[in-house]
Amino acid sequence: MENCLFCKIIAGDIPSAKVYEDEFCYAFRDINPQAPTHILVVPKTHVPDIAHISGLPADAQTALLAAIGKIAAQEGLENGFRVVSNCGPDACQSVPHLHFHILGGRAMADKMA
Ligand code: 5GP
Ligand code: ZN
Repeated sequence: MENCLFCKIIAGDIPSAKVYEDEFCYAFRDINPQAPTHILVVPKTHVPDIAHISGLPADAQTALLAAIGKIAAQEGLENGFRVVSNCGPDACQSVPHLHFHILGGRAMADKMA
């Protein structure tokens, strides 16, 4: 999709620190990390947010969820991690391409919001 920041990152038009890639997913380090480990996992096909994940084929949906566990293991997050997907204005979503934040490397706040 034109003018989508994460589509440009997936295409390699904007540089990113890649941590994982497969047929359906791309994952890279957040530019403004909120935890010692802060990774964004995105589908290679553009959908705006998790409310529209049914726009992806079932194997891509499965691959996205499976990628989260693979990346957590790769990053050594044995003590746990948090997964967040902001959707829409109330959640302060700032990039309208579905993404899962993986946050780890320290204890998270006990309140989620
Ligand atoms: P959201 O607020 O939509 O849930 O998350 C968007 C995330 O994208 C933010 O955590 C922000 O730091 C990250 N981000 C924005 N622009 C860039 C960029 O150009 N490169 C990378 N690696 N992350 C970005
Ligand atoms: Zn996009």
